[in-house]
Amino acid sequence: TAPLSALDPEVHAALRAELARQRSTLEMIASENFAPAAVMEAQGSVLTNKYAEGYPGRRYYGGCEHVDVTERLAVDRVKALFGAAHANVQPHSGAQANTAVLFALLRPGDTVLGLDLAHGGHLTHGMRLNYSGKMLDVVPYHVSATDHRVDMDEVERLAKEHRPKMIIAGWSAYPRQLDFAAFRRIADEVGALLMVDMAHFAGLVAAGLHPNPVPYAHVTTTTTHKTLGGPRGGVILTDDADLAKKLNSAVFPGMQGGPLEHVIAAKAVSFKVAAGEEFRERQARTLAGARILAERLTRDDAARAGVSVLTGGTDVHLVLVDLRACALDGRQAEDLLHSVGITVNRNAVPFDPRPPMVTSGLRIGTPALATRGFTEEDFAEAADVVALALRPGPDLSALRARTEALSAAHPLYPHLPQDGDDAR
Ligand code: PLP
Repeated sequence: TAPLSALDPEVHAALRAELARQRSTLEMIASENFAPAAVMEAQGSVLTNKYAEGYPGRRYYGGCEHVDVTERLAVDRVKALFGAAHANVQPHSGAQANTAVLFALLRPGDTVLGLDLAHGGHLTHGMRLNYSGKMLDVVPYHVSATDHRVDMDEVERLAKEHRPKMIIAGWSAYPRQLDFAAFRRIADEVGALLMVDMAHFAGLVAAGLHPNPVPYAHVTTTTTHKTLGGPRGGVILTDDADLAKKLNSAVFPGMQGGPLEHVIAAKAVSFKVAAGEEFRERQARTLAGARILAERLTRDDAARAGVSVLTGGTDVHLVLVDLRACALDGRQAEDLLHSVGITVNRNAVPFDPRPPMVTSGLRIGTPALATRGFTEEDFAEAADVVALALRPGPDLSALRARTEALSAAHPLYPHLPQDGDDAR
């Protein structure tokens, strides 16, 4: 019964410091968000104590009557949200969800097509050191060197040449929508399965502000903590009953043991939130914020500093800043923004001449600030701070004051202790 502050002051102090960091800085990492208090309440609940191997109604442990309720709610809500016939909400993370799909539907040595990591793909789409890259024969596809959009002619050519068992569509760093119908047409032509990983843009899909891949893909995966704004975790969706059986068996007992029922309950809560009008409005502000950011970073003054935006804009919640012509590299730009209170991550751009630990790009996203309540005016102010910071000779203390004012205008987690408050 001892509170964390008494039982473990070191962990308690780090949590308090992290809360202060989240409150006082502008979170613009494209894959991050702020989970609602109710999601954190479910996640920090007694369900953390429960073993529940199996699926609702078919468990290998007693006492599962209540976690059956929460898991069924999660399954039903996510199916309704994305219009899928079957859902598995047990993957502990997005990487687990993707790995379970590969494990369920492919054999070692099978050929898959995935977007090259250096061109915006994810580790689990076939990166050399990942399970996917080690177990499968991966043929990467790319964005075109001229417009930086996924080169569908190359996808078609590679598919016909290599006859993959699966094509993976989806991205971690790409500012445009994919053509799911074209991917499915190519997959059908060569007899491949199509897996879409919508981890990044699932929140936009849920809000009806981005095409839904579920009707096109044999299997769709997502994380629940990016634009969706829920607890950290993964989900697998399919319309195909036979595939659903294989996928369930690959998650449990294939890859995982006891599901994280506290996280699954939190997923259920976040799916309820995502079905609401407030969520839709928030995703609309997320998109508007990213467009404003892209507009500010493609103006003449940005161009004079060697700063531009890949593809010239964005259709989603993030912008990829191209620093190949800039004196600053990705690491320097990340550090500079950090020093004015803005958190982003450096990111390789396609055809990047700099090494992966340095890079020539930044990935900047708007979901977390939209959750914080940022209006279009606030996004314009944040975008101006970013643009000014990347120009030569920025006045860092003035810029820091501007981000502090934005943070102060949008209190984060007001129900949690303020500085100096010892509760909790
Ligand atoms: N898929 C995509 C497209 C991602 O961007 C990510 C995370 O960055 C993942 C999967 C993996 O999710 P997790 O970090 O929960 O394993």
